[in-house]
Amino acid sequence: MTTAGSGTGRGARARAAQRVQGTGVSVFTEMTELARSTGAVNLGQGVPELDAPAALLRDVADAVLAGANQYPPAYGFPALREAVAAHQQRRYGLAYAPQGEVLVTTGATEALAASLLALCDPGDEVLAFDPCYDAYPAVARFAGARLVPVPLAEDGERFVLDADALRGAVTARTRVLVLNTPHNPTGKVFTAAELETIAQVCQEHDLVVVTDEVYEHLVYDGGEHRTIAALPGMRERTITVSSAGKTFNVTGWKVGWVCGPAPLIGAVAAAKQFLTYASGTPYQEALARALGGVEAWAGELRQTLRRNRDLLTEGLARAGLRPYRAEAGYFVQADIRAWGYTDGVQFCRELPTRAGVVAIPTSAFQLRPGAPAHWVRFSFCRHEKSVVEAVEKLVNAA
Ligand SMILES: *Cc1c(COP(=O)(O)O)cnc(C)c1O
Repeated sequence: MTTAGSGTGRGARARAAQRVQGTGVSVFTEMTELARSTGAVNLGQGVPELDAPAALLRDVADAVLAGANQYPPAYGFPALREAVAAHQQRRYGLAYAPQGEVLVTTGATEALAASLLALCDPGDEVLAFDPCYDAYPAVARFAGARLVPVPLAEDGERFVLDADALRGAVTARTRVLVLNTPHNPTGKVFTAAELETIAQVCQEHDLVVVTDEVYEHLVYDGGEHRTIAALPGMRERTITVSSAGKTFNVTGWKVGWVCGPAPLIGAVAAAKQFLTYASGTPYQEALARALGGVEAWAGELRQTLRRNRDLLTEGLARAGLRPYRAEAGYFVQADIRAWGYTDGVQFCRELPTRAGVVAIPTSAFQLRPGAPAHWVRFSFCRHEKSVVEAVEKLVNAA
């Protein structure tokens, strides 16, 4: 191996680039390993234990055996793009052309990465509500942009928009606002009034919204998921991201999609073609059918998850770990201070031996230095018996 120039020894060359530094072994990996080595009940990562629709699984198997195993079209199979467009029309009254305004991606994760790569120049700023899904700051960094956290405020057992914090975070470099509703990790659903405020700020400052709606079908208690793209003046500046993983309990398939106006979707497609080009042929074919009947399926899934949410929320309260209200999604946040902890990381490291349960410190989703560290996230996308077992262990350890 030759070394060009001076002072670039082997150590320097073997060093990782700055864009991946700090994204190494995460607390998720650490906690998953702790669950494995201690045999604790894993309420850490949001990997569903629940079944996928049987017909969907059969359709994928049939598609594989029938030879649907080569690259799909770059924008995704027409039938799936049509099903996504029909879904947005039926549920939100939004019309997207299956040709040009819908793009199938390798999960919501690639959709988010391709969107920020497509929209951000180096030095641009991206706003996201804090805490936020851990992919947002990482992919913003890959794009050379900087993620600026906008703290959500606490209001009793809920998290709410802080409109002043949002307005105060906008600068001349702000290009994109990443919205996530229903929200991971808090379980918050943004209200109509909050979305109106966000829409107003984005129009005032000419921002594009990338809205991550992977939990759109998992809103409990008769609550409603609203999409910001449906507000006046927003469709033209919004990229809506969703995915099959959470809706159908198939997180390993990595089939997602984006909807938006043709110029924005064209830009996302330009980035996406050199990330994966295209993927998931048999899954795309089968999901095109499943998405048409998603309402009946999701109604049942919500019943299961809501029961788990209630068991976990009541159990955390009984254990003295003050739970917040999970209106949607897979997770309940808890305040751990009554157990004498102020640091969620320490709590989560000790919990497997103290109680036989694994959770994730919310600090893994927090970006602001000095933000509260006393929140921990528990997932309930598990078999009911796992949730019941975890609750018993927490109550006994309290
Ligand atoms: C799980 C999750 C994703 C990832 O979706 P994939 O389709 O698996 O890539 C994206 N955003 C949020 C908020 C999630 O919870």
